[in-house]
Amino acid sequence: MSIAPGVQRLLAPNASMMTGPGTNSWLLGDPPVAVLDPGPAIPSHIEALLAAAPRLETVFVTHTHPDHSPAARALKARTGARLVGRPPPADGRQDEGFVPDAIPARDEVFAVGALRLHAIDTPGHASNHVCWLLEGDGLLFSGDHILEGVTPVIPVPDGDLGAYLDSLERLKGYPLRAIAPGHGRVIGEPLAEIDRVIAHRLQREAKIVAALAARRVATLDELLLPVYADVPADRHALARLTLEAHLIKLAREGRVARRGTNWHAP
Ligand SMILES: [Zn+2]
Repeated sequence: MSIAPGVQRLLAPNASMMTGPGTNSWLLGDPPVAVLDPGPAIPSHIEALLAAAPRLETVFVTHTHPDHSPAARALKARTGARLVGRPPPADGRQDEGFVPDAIPARDEVFAVGALRLHAIDTPGHASNHVCWLLEGDGLLFSGDHILEGVTPVIPVPDGDLGAYLDSLERLKGYPLRAIAPGHGRVIGEPLAEIDRVIAHRLQREAKIVAALAARRVATLDELLLPVYADVPADRHALARLTLEAHLIKLAREGRVARRGTNWHAP
């Protein structure tokens, strides 16, 4: 599927609750010479990427969660392509097999054929998360920083909600035309979308503060139901991670306190 000049999408066959319709792998260049977020190491997906980009030179990743980077290793073994991204943090949720040949510096720009890809540090969903901006066009490859239709999970301890909100604010300073997320369809009106995500997080945070103020002291599980009553029960295990991320941010700001497994209102 063509998205912009020199940009095509190839959907990985890994649909699930975590990945929605599957991971979007992006082919860059005309003809394609780079892949961004090659996705899971599913043999049919690797073959599809190689068929679409037989002269592969570079593989970029947004982060190293197992639905985004594992195919990079196989693509490098088959083509000699160099891998660009930040190494996996040691939180037990990462693709440990991802070993980058180049680690992007903040705001470093990489040439991809005639295209230019700009690295934007966006820690939050993952500490090593990078969004990639197609310069001139304004298309932002957002990985799991911004998704279509859902808000990303912030899995602690590697995920950091304060950093996530800061990264969203900083993104607004770049010339964005549209957002190509790691899962789902392309999103127009990027600034409105970023503001919507920030507002959603702050609303959730206000609910947490109110729920804790009403109880004075509560465990994570006691807060989960009142705070996420609007979210289907099958998503509560994921929501619990983001709830904890919110509480850690609030504790850092002195707005709640943690004692053992209990969270206390001030
Ligand atoms: Zn992720």
